[in-house]
Amino acid sequence: MSAEVLNGREIREEILKDIEDETARIAQEHGRVPGLVTVLVGNKPASRSYITNKVNTAKRVGFKEVQESLPETISEQELLSLIDRYNKDESIDGILVQLPLPEHIDETKVIYALDPDKDVDGFHPVNIGRLVLGGDQVKFTPCTPAGIQEMIKRAGVPTSGAEVVVVGRSNIVGKPIATLMMQKGEGGNATVTTVHTGTKDLAGHCRRADILIVAAGKPGLVQPEWIKPGACVIDVGVNRVGEKISKKTGKTVAILRGDIDYDAISEIAGFITPVPGGVGPMTITMLMRNTLNSLKYRLGLIRPGQQ
Ligand code: NAD
Repeated sequence: MSAEVLNGREIREEILKDIEDETARIAQEHGRVPGLVTVLVGNKPASRSYITNKVNTAKRVGFKEVQESLPETISEQELLSLIDRYNKDESIDGILVQLPLPEHIDETKVIYALDPDKDVDGFHPVNIGRLVLGGDQVKFTPCTPAGIQEMIKRAGVPTSGAEVVVVGRSNIVGKPIATLMMQKGEGGNATVTTVHTGTKDLAGHCRRADILIVAAGKPGLVQPEWIKPGACVIDVGVNRVGEKISKKTGKTVAILRGDIDYDAISEIAGFITPVPGGVGPMTITMLMRNTLNSLKYRLGLIRPGQQ
């Protein structure tokens, strides 16, 4: 048996096209486009590449895009003042601060400083609280978990009553995806188990999974013997395991590997996500959706829980 590959790049194109069309329609009817500020502090190559990707995607779908590229030496107070300015700026619907920040800046303080109604990353405690409450409370779902759920839904994999096992308990992936999958409603209503470094029998839990979501950051951690035949296996891991010269650009690029033994598992699973090209492209796509939704809330076009 060979698993159906869930292609994040194809799904991204479909969703971005919808976002682009809706942005154009809202612009025509309401004279307003979603405004996104991206804040980059310092010049770490990985962070710069993530930001460039976000900026280009926002431009492509027709958003107003403001780039704040700040020196590594900026003080915490200066950064907080900048956030305050955009919190009050009526033309801005989303503020994204690229993490990690330099050590002299307290990330928690920065996240708390965001207006929760412009926190399109969904990391502010108010948005985490709204997510846990579920239903009509939810405004912004964190982007990677939202992308994972979207892929599962689009694949037509039944979730209601399914055994879902999540490997990893981070605040940005493990905890929110476990929360999403257990909520009532479409794409949820599953029985969720979260496993982590304190779990005794990792393999035993994974073997029960109808849907296995792996976000451990450990290349090749999940073995083929751990997979229930026909299961849906979502690999969130992005691990740099080496470098190669790109055939397209001639530049040196990272060799990326996920958290599962992809080749062997694709012979057992029913659905599988590749790395790269699986969950990765969905994350930025969901950031765009959150930013569009932020404007739609503001214009009264949708209510929380309807995103
Ligand atoms: P993290 O390091 O914050 O959390 C990893 C979690 O995995 C921890 O909770 C830990 O308990 C668990 N874990 C680690 N090793 C384990 C083991 N041997 N057995 C059981 N549990 C184990 O990482 P994160 O931020 O959640 O990211 C996880 C992976 O997903 C990373 O590779 C990251 O690069 C990737 N990621 C990808 C995207 C994307 O858009 N594709 C987004 C976020 C994170």
